[in-house]
Amino acid sequence: MVSNVNHCQGFEEDESDFINFKGKQVIVLGGGDTAMDCNRTSIRQGAKSVSCVYRRDEENMPGSRREVKNAREEGVQFLFNRQPVEIIGKDKVEGIKVVETVMGAPDENGRRKAEVVEGSEQIIPADAVLVAFGFQASPSPWFDKFGIETDAYGRVIAPKQGKFMYQTTNEKIFAGGDMVRGSDLVVTAIDEGRKAADGIMDYLDI
Ligand SMILES: Cc1cc2nc3c(=O)[nH]c(=O)nc-3n(C[C@H](O)[C@H](O)[C@H](O)COP(=O)(O)OP(=O)(O)OC[C@H]3O[C@@H](n4cnc5c(N)ncnc54)[C@H](O)[C@@H]3O)c2cc1C
Repeated sequence: MVSNVNHCQGFEEDESDFINFKGKQVIVLGGGDTAMDCNRTSIRQGAKSVSCVYRRDEENMPGSRREVKNAREEGVQFLFNRQPVEIIGKDKVEGIKVVETVMGAPDENGRRKAEVVEGSEQIIPADAVLVAFGFQASPSPWFDKFGIETDAYGRVIAPKQGKFMYQTTNEKIFAGGDMVRGSDLVVTAIDEGRKAADGIMDYLDI
């Protein structure tokens, strides 16, 4: 993926690492904004087809309505009420096995659950599958050595309300953004970066 960024910026790149979906049948799994980015990037790279597979119906999809509309306009096909269960293929991806779902009662968060329809398995052919759901923090192995503690989800503990804003459990290290909050927005990361800088100034008493 770094190579894709280098490619867009016109920097030196390693072609062997460049992910290119030109001419490919692409399946994107998920229904959020990240899925919409994957859909539209694949289309713009010249994919033969892009199908967005989502386990709930359109009404219960988290992605912004405008993004979904834009993706449709660019040629993305949406397959709602399909839950992925297996990626098919031996040496390379050949397709994805899905089961159909129907919308059931709301769960504890108020969103209707997708319930599997027995015997509805189906294989959708694909050359590439992009998994665009979920966010997991990836704490660095050296955190332990430097006494940087994380919560149960692997996010760095650096509270705004601490003695110094966004100070971690290592008093000389400050943190903010996604590694502290989990998946969020650019503006909140910038804001926390600035506040962490204020925290550092206070810590240094300058
Ligand atoms: C597909 C996608 C689409 C998104 N779309 C939007 C959007 O439209 N609008 C929006 O507001 N937000 C969007 N977001 C969220 C937004 O990108 C993040 O909230 C934001 O980038 C968080 O900023 P950050 O500085 O905390 O982390 P990051 O942007 O992840 O920056 C962390 C940086 O640290 C570097 N790094 C990691 N480890 C080390 C190390 N050991 N040494 C040195 N450097 C290291 C990483 O390479 C990375 O460059 C999107 C996110 C994704 C994944």
